[in-house]
Amino acid sequence: MTKAYNFSAGPAMLPSEVLKKINEELLEYRGAKASIMEISHRGEDFMEVARKSEQDLRDLLSIPNNYKVLFLQGGASAQFSMVPINLLRGRNIANYVNTGLWSEKAISEASRYCDVNICSDSSNNNFTDIEDFEKWNINEDAAYLHYVSNETIAGLEFDYIPEVKMPLAADMSSTILSREIDVTKFGVIYAGAQKNIGPSGLTIVIVREDLLGQVVNGQPKLFDYSTQANNESMFNTPTTFSWYAAGCVFEWLKEQGGLNVIQKINEEKAKTLYAAIDNSDFYLNKVSIRYRSLMNVPFFLADENLNTLFLEKSKEADLLALKGHRSVGGMRASIYNAMPKEGVNALVTFMKDFEKKFA
Ligand SMILES: *Cc1c(COP(=O)(O)O)cnc(C)c1O
Repeated sequence: MTKAYNFSAGPAMLPSEVLKKINEELLEYRGAKASIMEISHRGEDFMEVARKSEQDLRDLLSIPNNYKVLFLQGGASAQFSMVPINLLRGRNIANYVNTGLWSEKAISEASRYCDVNICSDSSNNNFTDIEDFEKWNINEDAAYLHYVSNETIAGLEFDYIPEVKMPLAADMSSTILSREIDVTKFGVIYAGAQKNIGPSGLTIVIVREDLLGQVVNGQPKLFDYSTQANNESMFNTPTTFSWYAAGCVFEWLKEQGGLNVIQKINEEKAKTLYAAIDNSDFYLNKVSIRYRSLMNVPFFLADENLNTLFLEKSKEADLLALKGHRSVGGMRASIYNAMPKEGVNALVTFMKDFEKKFA
């Protein structure tokens, strides 16, 4: 198995123990005498995968019984539509916080269904900071408030949960399971799996029951959370392989000691990497220190002419996918749960060596 460390933003690295386990049982799943990819989602073997994965996720996040957990498709992008379709409930205005490109995509889609009140906007600081909550312009008549708790591209992450009276909707695609969160503060939480959960194709939705069943008229049945909730996420054929793999990741997280332990490791990893950046004049991160992401660390080289060389040499050193998003430039290291401390240490060592040679 490769020793390379993969810093891809998504689809991203999976824990090597999980990959090994999937490899071991891929051709023949336990007693099924067929691959997990070849068996019915309604059969006993897959139903057990579905049941256990949901229970493990509930355990990890302490999800209360009055929340449904859905295993859907369409990515976080489908949720940009499903959130307004399900949460507007007869109202025609919603609050959106704009902290980055994913926020903007959510806003653009919600605008097809209602008036969007942008209650805070970080575009004026290039998504490097979040306005103080006290200054937000929240519309109290709005059906809900939506925000992206970690903006994957700019590396801008909330360190708190906004306290609002209306249901809170959060895109947690790149932060879910990286730290402990209080699910009871949310109306709906959603996440595409390919960042911190498992392979792409699966989208997790955690939604409070009382918000179900009041969808905007004339919308696809598949986009009604209650359709999925009433059919155990099997109204249509689910993405069985991704669901199974996500279940393996949940088991692995529990084996690590749960989110409390994972959070500490993630904090350490981020601290190591930001310190290396801050302690050098050769590297730079522009995000306001309080809101720096634990998961996605963008950084720039003081001399942008060295970008190509940095990417070539890092790849040679088995440090993969460090190129920054095209809208930001520079570099980005995504250090999700699956990235071990050793991977971050290897990156920091490489960065120091590179600086010595080429500064
Ligand atoms: C990757 C990402 C998305 C898009 O996810 P898809 O599954 O491709 O639709 C949305 N929001 C955030 C925060 C992301 O990181």
